[in-house]
Amino acid sequence: MMCSINEENLAEETMVATPKLSVTDAICRRCNILKAQVLLRKTDPYCRDCFMKYAVHKFRSTIGKAHALKHNEHVLLAYSGGLSSGSMVKLIKEGLDFSESKKIKMVFKPTLVHIDEGLILNLSKHERKETTDFVLEQAKKNGFDVYICSLEYCLAPDLNDLKLEMNSYQIEPSIYESQLEMLFGSVKSLTAKEDLLIRLKQRLITLLATRLNHAKVFLGPNATRLAGQLLSAIGQGRGAQIAHEIGFTDSRTGTVFLRPMREFVDKEVAYLANFLGVDSVCLPTLSSKLGSTASIGRLTEDFVVTLQTNFPATISTLFRISDKLKSNIADLNPSDCERDSLCLLCLSAIEESSVCSASTARHISQTFSRSGPSGHPSDDLRTHPLQSVGTVRHQDSTSCSSNCNSQGKPCCKTSNDQIKSDWSAVLCYGCRITMEDVKQPELMPINYLEELGLRSRRQVMRQSVEQFLL
Ligand SMILES: [Zn+2]
Ligand SMILES: [Zn+2]
Repeated sequence: MMCSINEENLAEETMVATPKLSVTDAICRRCNILKAQVLLRKTDPYCRDCFMKYAVHKFRSTIGKAHALKHNEHVLLAYSGGLSSGSMVKLIKEGLDFSESKKIKMVFKPTLVHIDEGLILNLSKHERKETTDFVLEQAKKNGFDVYICSLEYCLAPDLNDLKLEMNSYQIEPSIYESQLEMLFGSVKSLTAKEDLLIRLKQRLITLLATRLNHAKVFLGPNATRLAGQLLSAIGQGRGAQIAHEIGFTDSRTGTVFLRPMREFVDKEVAYLANFLGVDSVCLPTLSSKLGSTASIGRLTEDFVVTLQTNFPATISTLFRISDKLKSNIADLNPSDCERDSLCLLCLSAIEESSVCSASTARHISQTFSRSGPSGHPSDDLRTHPLQSVGTVRHQDSTSCSSNCNSQGKPCCKTSNDQIKSDWSAVLCYGCRITMEDVKQPELMPINYLEELGLRSRRQVMRQSVEQFLL
């Protein structure tokens, strides 16, 4: 890949910590009249008015550039209650109200949507209620309708099974509650948990958008969050999906996800929220109260935030690089791909797997590291690497747990193994790693399991037809 960034500039911009300018007594660099109230990139002082003009222009041009919205289109705004999505809601509210000139008035119809994730964050009913009450109050203040749905409905098989309330919310027990708790409880690593949460939340928002007849959803993550996600995506083998994972538009699920806050770093969001009077709630995450090495996502975000503090060009440099990284696969129109070649979980294209694929290499090295110095199957591996991987996996899973009571059916371990191998055929590399950590994949949404069955039957059929053709 050719890189157009001049190396000398790069070093100058990113590698030398920029000395901080004092904001006291500084004059706004844009109007050169008013006293500065904002200091961006450590060296650019702005007055309040000029900063707001700059921010509003940036927000609108992010949306406008992509020509993503039609006139008067209905849009869902995913609102978590945090600063970034709160500022997004407020910017849209002001954009809709702004009537000085018809030309620059935003014209679309927003409705808020909030997902109550409290169940898997181990929040008490009282804490969950506090957050959702806050969301309801903010929606009312801004004059928007809000739909609130609990995360466990991501397991619902059908749109009509969603329990969705407009402008009110009651935490009620549902049949999916314990299933979701058990599903997340069965995931060992935090990285896999966080990834699973992203995928399931995406599924739920897609279901909600379809049910509410909205083709587009605005998501609230800002540049700082996305830059962390960019590095973490690379770390998790999702390099080919970066354009979707952090770009402005992501239409993998059929519903179009847009990220209008992606040009704002944390610091700009903080100024924006302050000037716009945005209230926010402190949102716990899966990695709250845990150290910075708790998960890949947490680590990369901390890394970006720390680096950005001293080198204000960090995030823009990361974004510039990521905009150039486009996979051939990602450019394909989903309708061009066969449905079976899309990952069941994230709907990205599954890379062609061959004997020499990254996931085979990972599998072999995993087998070696788990089997310890004495037990590695070196001789078998030399003769037939893949077969021996299969044998070793089979060996650790022959003993069945005592509480297996699958009467009439094959023992739970055997069927779990079968399910696992079926899963890996329908997932992309990144999702495969996540699902390997999900110890009870049978708790995943029933639609996935049905599709899994369908695909493996189609695969068998395809193979038998191929035999005839040959
Ligand atoms: Zn100014
Ligand atoms: Zn995937």
